[in-house]
Amino acid sequence: MKQHPKDERTLVVIKPDGVQRGLMGEIIRRYENVGLKLVGMKMLVPSERHVEAHYTLDPNWRRVTGEKTIKSYREKGMTPPSEDPLEITAKILANLKKYLSSGPVVAMVWEGAHAVGIVRKITGGTEPLSSDVGTIRGDFVLDSYTMADTDTRAVRNLVHASGSVPEAEAEIPHWFKQEELTDYRIIHEEILYDVNLDGILE
Ligand code: GDP
Ligand code: MG
Repeated sequence: MKQHPKDERTLVVIKPDGVQRGLMGEIIRRYENVGLKLVGMKMLVPSERHVEAHYTLDPNWRRVTGEKTIKSYREKGMTPPSEDPLEITAKILANLKKYLSSGPVVAMVWEGAHAVGIVRKITGGTEPLSSDVGTIRGDFVLDSYTMADTDTRAVRNLVHASGSVPEAEAEIPHWFKQEELTDYRIIHEEILYDVNLDGILE
């Protein structure tokens, strides 16, 4: 049976800089305000192994991210540090492992209509320099790939959010056991998803 779009789930991780900047409440508020339902949440310090496994759940991630990075250097009229996508991603991954395991993070699973797409929209584009105003990455942080590369570190963009439904389906069990996720009804679903809105008037 095909899943109803309102049952979609996505993984969000507030990265160590989000926790340190005191933005946990603000970030959670934005996903909560749009009408999504929080079905799992925990704070932990992820190991470097856990972080590497997270980013490489998709066997194509190394190649795709490397190619994307080379392309973005060229678009800026800059020479990429290497022509080999895998060499580029190896550096990005090393920086990401250091970044994400540097302190506590908050991992969450959000559920609701088009959860993956809605969360990505609210989160904003990967590089804060060009993330839209009004998004989390656009409003609360000012980093760039140039800054990150100059200092040999990962770009600090406050949150991770699954990029697609298959990515979410792979990432959620990497961070949460089945029993750590709760199925429940939340009252605002009565209005968001009710077909006839016939339960309001007495
Ligand atoms: P996200 O889903 O928006 O976080 O972005 P991706 O999945 O494409 O990339 C994951 C992470 O890799 C990002 O959060 C960045 O830390 C890093 N990254 C991706 N692309 C680049 C790039 O072009 N340059 C650098 N320095 N880091 C990158
Ligand atoms: Mg991604």
